[in-house]
Amino acid sequence: MNYIPFSRPEIGDEEVAEVVDTLRGGWLTMGPKTERFEAAFAEYVCARHAVAVASCTAALQLSLAAAGIGPGDEVITSPMTFVSTANVVVHLGATPVFVDIAPGTLNIDHTRIERAITARTKAIVPVHFAGQACEMDAILDVARRHGLRVIEDAAHAVGAEYDGARVGSIGDATCFSFYATKNLTTGEGGMIATDDEELAQKARILRFHGISSDAWKRYSKEGSQHWEAVFVGYKENMTDIQASIGLHQLRKLDRMIERRAEIAEAYDQELKDVVEVPARLPNRRHAHHLYVVQADNRDKVREDLAQAGVGTGIHFRAVHLHAIYRERYGLRPGGFPEAGAASDRVLSLPLFPSLSGDDIRRVTEAVRRVILTQGRPWSNCG
Ligand SMILES: *Cc1c(COP(=O)(O)O)cnc(C)c1O
Repeated sequence: MNYIPFSRPEIGDEEVAEVVDTLRGGWLTMGPKTERFEAAFAEYVCARHAVAVASCTAALQLSLAAAGIGPGDEVITSPMTFVSTANVVVHLGATPVFVDIAPGTLNIDHTRIERAITARTKAIVPVHFAGQACEMDAILDVARRHGLRVIEDAAHAVGAEYDGARVGSIGDATCFSFYATKNLTTGEGGMIATDDEELAQKARILRFHGISSDAWKRYSKEGSQHWEAVFVGYKENMTDIQASIGLHQLRKLDRMIERRAEIAEAYDQELKDVVEVPARLPNRRHAHHLYVVQADNRDKVREDLAQAGVGTGIHFRAVHLHAIYRERYGLRPGGFPEAGAASDRVLSLPLFPSLSGDDIRRVTEAVRRVILTQGRPWSNCG
């Protein structure tokens, strides 16, 4: 019996041909194809600028740096995220301040944000969990009233919409991930989308050593031989090899999201009577990056599913429960009760466009069997 992984990238002949074209073309790193990918991406998310970078982690770090966040500042975010959302804040010398998730969803509780704001708060980083946008109207409103920047972690949310607006066109800057398991992949990669010309310009310079012109322009015919570092920058650019993949992934993105939505719908129907299925928030287009159920005895359920040939993921162990965050910030497990409880219960089921009808049936049958067996007292001892 074949193993169904939790995620599988959707790479076709078009991506392969484009990468080969790049490899044979003589320019491998950030260059003309990255520019084409940026332009196509900006158009897709309805943003004025898109800045291609090495990862979503880099996108977050560069956006926050370009927005002027630094030592002594506080940045509000959700504990229910990947550690990198908080790590970048720490790397900038700022302090991550966590606000618990809203009951019944895995998104930040917008009603609690205002209470966490201090004189040092500079930005809010909402995480659009699983591909479902946070309450952006309320978040933008509190940010405007307190003069805060909104930098979105949209690692799960390429193609998502909130109240008719594409994620990428809403906050001050939006950060996307093209990691291998994400909805749109370039192997590794990320993007900043923004309407803010100054932020985009600064992020472009910071992604490449703080140098004021891109390498491929410096080496081209028109390029000046002279260049100058104007910031102490980073090395976090994308390459044309990655952009080659991204150009074609973007073209099939809507189709891939539609297929993900069908699979999520099938899971809802087959599983809602045995397990807590994900909440659907109104007035949104869900990108369906993850399908996260919540279950008691999650680790045992996960083990039994693996035995049955079904791969799963855990998104995520809440940031405040990780050793370094507990120790450095004195965070207690009970500090964020909603995120703490979810952290022990979340389980991501296989979700990717090429999952077949048979695969879906195998997943739902295995989940039903495992959960129903777990519920019996004689198998519920550990
Ligand atoms: C994947 C992920 C990131 C990091 O993305 P990379 O491209 O791997 O740097 C950040 N935040 C969330 C919520 C993620 O899932």
